[in-house]
Order: sequence, then structure tokens, then C-alpha cells
Amino acid sequence: MSQDQIRQIQQLISAGRFAEARAILQSIDRPDIPQLLAQLDAMERAAAAAQPQPVTQTESTADYLNRLDDTGGEAAAAAGPATPAPEAPRHSRKGELTGTDAEGRRIYYEGTYEMLWDCQYCGTKKLLGKTHRFCPNCGAAQNPDSRYFPSEEEQIAVEDHVFVGADITCKSCGTLNSGNAEFCGNCGSPLTDSARARTQAEQVRGAGEHFASSGSRDIAKERFDAEMERVGVRPKAGKKGLPRWAIALIIGLVVLLCGGVLVSTLWTKEAGVVLTGHSWERTIFVEQYGPVNENEWCSSMPGGAYNVSRRQEIQSYRQVPDGEDCQMVRVDSGDGTFRTEQRCQTRYRDEPVYADRCYYTIDRWSDSRTARSSGSSQSDAPYWPELNLNCEGQTRAGCERERNREGRYVLILHNTDENKEYTCEVTQERWQSAPLESRWQLQVGGVMGDARCDTLEPAR
Ligand SMILES: [Zn+2]
Ligand SMILES: [Zn+2]
Repeated sequence: MSQDQIRQIQQLISAGRFAEARAILQSIDRPDIPQLLAQLDAMERAAAAAQPQPVTQTESTADYLNRLDDTGGEAAAAAGPATPAPEAPRHSRKGELTGTDAEGRRIYYEGTYEMLWDCQYCGTKKLLGKTHRFCPNCGAAQNPDSRYFPSEEEQIAVEDHVFVGADITCKSCGTLNSGNAEFCGNCGSPLTDSARARTQAEQVRGAGEHFASSGSRDIAKERFDAEMERVGVRPKAGKKGLPRWAIALIIGLVVLLCGGVLVSTLWTKEAGVVLTGHSWERTIFVEQYGPVNENEWCSSMPGGAYNVSRRQEIQSYRQVPDGEDCQMVRVDSGDGTFRTEQRCQTRYRDEPVYADRCYYTIDRWSDSRTARSSGSSQSDAPYWPELNLNCEGQTRAGCERERNREGRYVLILHNTDENKEYTCEVTQERWQSAPLESRWQLQVGGVMGDARCDTLEPAR
């Protein structure tokens, strides 16, 4: 199987054209073809079943091609998620799908063009990055740092461009050499540890816009600025923000606020109090059996429901593909050219999924009333309210049963020092055994003066 075939199959799979990929596979004579065909079937089913994550699909494509590849992994690397590195592995055709990036966007190749550069020595402008390795006016070698993107209107295409790596500047004589050169074409020095050309940041534009030139570079000024920044003479560009005093003020306020909250919850002081009163309240909660209106998805409606009416309602949302969002991106290849790519992401919209909702009546136990008794002194001993349950012990419409009983026992405490009154709920035992006029102590909040009833204990 040739590299070309592998590449072709890879593209067809990425584009979802499984039938054509299958036809090519079937034309190849290899013992493991049936196995590979089965894997292709599985990938097609997975792609058809749900909306597969584009990235995982690419990974499985990579695995798949790894197995196809006799030479071991080259094609898989080409199919893997593209890194932002400016390497274009080979010569592509316009509009061709070349892979997927880390965010799952499909990358279409749109062409290769010349970067521009300006001669630092004689001032000649808009020289071509690939064609003019030397200034045609004064003969100075091209400095790759001076390259910039042209405007879209004046960009010059490079036909049949083959990428061989970013250019290398000879460290002995400063001549710019092609990325695959081993020795300097000018002085013959080995290029093994010489500097690769730095690349410019990507340019991005939306549909319907035009790329502007990234602008001529003033290398001397950039170098001067970088040096000034390094020694700290100039504040770093793009690091504008709030002045320091404002940041300090904000931090101070936040600390103050947090501290205030902490103090008001944690800081307490002890208060001596006198018990001046008792109160109690007892409640019984009563349920009644009878018709209740409910609604539920019809598939999980309980048995025993009656008067059922159903209607269609939105149960959930499903993501369905709805066109794609594309961006044009210019990527500096580092060899005097840049390539333009279209990066596209499938757009999804939420489509409602409907199901039957059932509205029904059902007989159940539900809260109907409460019975309450209360008292305001210890001598008025707590008792449960009188309760007459309708047809107790039976389960039919109108019958009643007890759900729950609750009792609350409250001590009324007076802080003579500050002339403040607190109420604390305690157990019935403590309530019963606490005599009037007895002395107690408890913690109260240092800020709000609120009683912390869990600290209440008899005075020592
Ligand atoms: Zn020149
Ligand atoms: Zn050289």
C-alpha cells in the first residue's frame, strides 16, 4: 500500500466519505484487509449513530491509519490533531481538508503566499520572503525577523510550494538558508545549531472580511524596545490595568469585609442571665387520604391514577448540526511563505424532544391540618392537643391519620446588665427542671448581641 493511497483514504474518512474509502481498501491485496474493512464499518456506524466529537474521530482515524501504514506511523502523525506549529507536511491543493486542530475544527488549505520583508540597509520595501533571499537593490541578506504579512490585495501566490522546514540563519555569516540545508550556501559552515527563523503570530479574520498587512517591521526599534523592557526602563506594553494603589485598596476592603464576617460569627462574650419565664407548644400534624392532582411523564405515571389527560411537552433538547462557522487564518511557515487556512467548526442548535406529559388525579395521603396546644408557665404542664381522627385506621377518601408530633420548650432569659431578653429552645427535661429566678450563663455574639443557646448552662 502506497503513502498516496493511505493519504487518500485518510482524507476520505475525515470527510465522512466511507464508501469511497472502502472501495480503495477493497482494491488492495493484503491479508489484513477484511479486518481493516470491519474497522471502517465500525467507524462509519459510530459517525452515523450520534454526533461524534470531531477530535475523538480524528484520533480513531489516526489509530486506524497507523495500522494501514507499512512504514510505521507517518500517516498517523499527519492525521493526528494538528499542532499550532507552522509545519505543512506536504504540498496540498486548494480547498483540501488537511486535518483537524486541537479544538476539533476542520482545516482546509487555501493557498501559499510570499511573506514580505523590508531591507534594513537600503530601505527597499515589500521584498518577497521566498523569492528575494537577498535585497535585489543592495545585496544584503534577508533577515527573517523583518518578515510581515502582506495585505490580502497584494499577496503573491507561491505555486506548488513544498515545505522543508523553517529557514536557518547561518551563525557564521548571517546568510539565510533553506530549512533542509546542512551547510551554509555562502560560507559552508555546518548549520546544525544555527537559529531557525522565528515565525509571526497568526492572523485571523471572519467570513467576508479582508486581511490587512501586519505592517512593515522596524527591527532596530523592536530590539531597542525589548532591551529597554528587559532592563526595566519602560513598563511592559499590553500590561495596562488598575494602578497599584487601587489594587491594594480592593484587597484591603475584601480583607476587611471577610474579617468583619468572621468577627461577627466567632467573637462572643459571656452574659449572666436570669430565668424569667417558660413557654411550650405542642403540635400534631394530620394527613387526610383523598384525591390529589399531579403530573408526570406518561411513561412513569403511577398506577391508580384517574381522570388522566395528556399533552405533548418538551422533555429534553437534542443537539443537531446546523451549518458551520469558519475563520480564515494566515500561518507563517518560517520559510518566507505563509499559508492560508480555513478553519471550520460545525454549529449545533438545540432541537426540542417532545414526550407525553400526563395530568391526573390520584388518591394519596397528604397534609390536611394541624392540632396545637400551648402554655406559658411551668405550672401549666405540657399536654398533647385533643385529636379526633376521621375514620382512623382506614384508607379511603376522607379518612385521617397522624403524620408527626413536635414539642418546643422555651426558656425566657433576662440579661440584667444590658436589659436584654433572650429566648432559648431547650429539651423538655431541662425546661422541666429549670426553676424561675435561677441564674444561667451563655455566650452572646460580640457584634449583634445574639444568644448562642447551645452554650447555655447553669451559673457557676
Ligand atoms: Zn537593500
Ligand atoms: Zn554562512
